Amino acid sequence: MGGFKLRTRRLFFDWHMPDFLPEVRLDVPHLVDQAVAIGAQSIDFMTKSAFGNCLYPSQVGLTNKVMVGDIFSELCETAHDRGLEVIAYFNMVLNDSLGAEHPEWLQVDRNGEPVRFESYRMMCMNSAYRDHAFEHLAEIAERFPIDGFSLDLQYFHGYGCFCAACREQFAAQLGYPLEPERFTTPRQWLELNDFQRRSREEFILTARERVEAIRPGRAWTWNHSGSFGDFQRLDGQATFLAGEAHPPEYMPCATKAKWMQSSGKPFQFWMPESIGSWGHWTITTPGTLKGTCALALAHGGSIAFNHVAPPCGDYAGRVFDGVYQVLGEIMSWIREREAHCSGKQSVPVTAVLFSETNFSLGEAARLAAVNNPTGTPFVLRGQGQANYFDAVHLLGACHVTTDFLYSEQHLDRLEEYEAVVLPNLGHITAALAERLRAYVSGGGKLVATYNTSLLDAEGNDLENFALADLLGLDFAGYSDFSPIYLDGFAGGYGTGLPAMPQLVKDVGYQRNSPNRALYGRLRPGAEALATFTEPVLESDWPRGYHIYHDHAPPGRRTQRPAVVLNRVGQGACLFFPFSLLRAYGHQPNPWLRELFRQGLEQLGVPHTIQVTAPPAIHHVLTADDQGWLLHLIRIQKETDTMFLDETTPAPPTQVVVRPPWRIGGMERVLSGEAIPHEAAPGGASFAVAGVLDHEIIRIRRDS
Ligand SMILES: [Zn+2]
Repeated sequence: MGGFKLRTRRLFFDWHMPDFLPEVRLDVPHLVDQAVAIGAQSIDFMTKSAFGNCLYPSQVGLTNKVMVGDIFSELCETAHDRGLEVIAYFNMVLNDSLGAEHPEWLQVDRNGEPVRFESYRMMCMNSAYRDHAFEHLAEIAERFPIDGFSLDLQYFHGYGCFCAACREQFAAQLGYPLEPERFTTPRQWLELNDFQRRSREEFILTARERVEAIRPGRAWTWNHSGSFGDFQRLDGQATFLAGEAHPPEYMPCATKAKWMQSSGKPFQFWMPESIGSWGHWTITTPGTLKGTCALALAHGGSIAFNHVAPPCGDYAGRVFDGVYQVLGEIMSWIREREAHCSGKQSVPVTAVLFSETNFSLGEAARLAAVNNPTGTPFVLRGQGQANYFDAVHLLGACHVTTDFLYSEQHLDRLEEYEAVVLPNLGHITAALAERLRAYVSGGGKLVATYNTSLLDAEGNDLENFALADLLGLDFAGYSDFSPIYLDGFAGGYGTGLPAMPQLVKDVGYQRNSPNRALYGRLRPGAEALATFTEPVLESDWPRGYHIYHDHAPPGRRTQRPAVVLNRVGQGACLFFPFSLLRAYGHQPNPWLRELFRQGLEQLGVPHTIQVTAPPAIHHVLTADDQGWLLHLIRIQKETDTMFLDETTPAPPTQVVVRPPWRIGGMERVLSGEAIPHEAAPGGASFAVAGVLDHEIIRIRRDS
């Protein structure tokens, strides 16, 4: 939808109300008055809930039996009269009431048992339910002058679906039966994943087509379009992308925001307003909402904050004043910032490469694990989307500016980045390998971890890394040990670390990881910055064969390279042939973090911007035609809680910037206060003190 501009101050009314209550009542004029009073611009409002009933009298679907009045009709009219955008929330596959009437439409597991999402029945996108859902959406489009649709829950269950419709369509398309107990090859699981992916795509796009024919030009989004997936062709059809933000998952929220930003589309998170998750009925703290919101805003996105009213009882029909007080504070806080956030582009420094191909591999292995647990093993060492979160977490902890490359199909900006991270990307296609070779030979820096490029298209080990020439290492085999130690630091690498070998382990207490280190032989010209040391023994817990209470101490030094630096053409590659990211994700270990940072330093990364900051500061750098905007976001949790501290400003953050233009000045955009800066080699340096939640610094281009 050309020219669509996402309004920044958004509300969500996620109101799943059952039929067995004495009444379902909403004071719509009060709701709209309050939304306008706090400065909201948009409301995403329930049309059809997970229970399956509607908040308007539906001729197609089920109507909430105890609803007082016609809530959605009144909301639509009242909100539009007051200038509020109305987005219609529609729950696609959860339909508890209809599912009870039509068991033949339900998603089922491989034994034919209906599956549930949380407590709700799940309809199958391949069953005749689809026509019902399309009719239902068409009714909403015909009846209401809404501004857009947000579709929730359009997924296959993790254990499904193996209903008659899925089996019939799978067999017709693939030429063999959908019988997971008889699957023997990774190819079959990949085909099942692809079948489900196509089914979902077709379901959503057909719904969109049906509605577009009735009421064209509406905004469209669906939940999960903002989550890592192999749905990019589908998600390209969304007007804006959307996912969910759930404190205390702050870095995961930042990671998803970076990935959505890299799509080039507007995006939003839906976020519970409460201290827990959806339906907790107790408002969280303003600081918690601000910190999370800052992560969305800085990347050019927004948040739709939930707010809900008790449907019956002494408080029936109105959202509590306490919720409006907090949301009002947040909306004002957003209003001060929004003009400095929307519509900017990221400044390229480092990027993590997301791979749809590898995501599909991971999903296929997951399907195999849950649907045929005793069958042919389809185990992928160290793969999965956790790597993307771990990579951003690690880069962020090193205060290295980072972005995503949206996928291997979206490499337009590749050459702009100083360095690109390949986070355990097992399968690298020949085309991608060629593109990466050109990038490195032209001066790009690659950072690769673990079994990057060691897998074929079906997840089997290759004889050697497809990128061995870039990585500087030829594969020789797996370590015999599940934990490993980093040792033999050379050439100044590892300076300042405690004088002892450094543990790499990516699983918990008394567990052995399948992600064993990769032993290899250095290629001529490559340099080992560290070597592996093996533990005294491999623990065998059931046999009682172990030392002390957990894994064994360092025992035998090897000459096997553990960190490889390889200079190629004008560029270079840094390779960690062990499970660095999962180990850091499992335990954010300061010594691994420092080794990662020093590795980047060997590559001369980062150069464009160098940030030295307290651990709680996350930074984001964007650009517009006036220069750069540096966002400093303080994410400091209160001890052992999910809430963000809002009492103590951060100590100074030191910054060196090297823009490709002359600096005209710097200021804090919210207060207008100028920031003194000094010349630094190739740029300027400055310090920013007193960041409490979110400061924005303008680095002005001299015109
Ligand atoms: Zn099905």
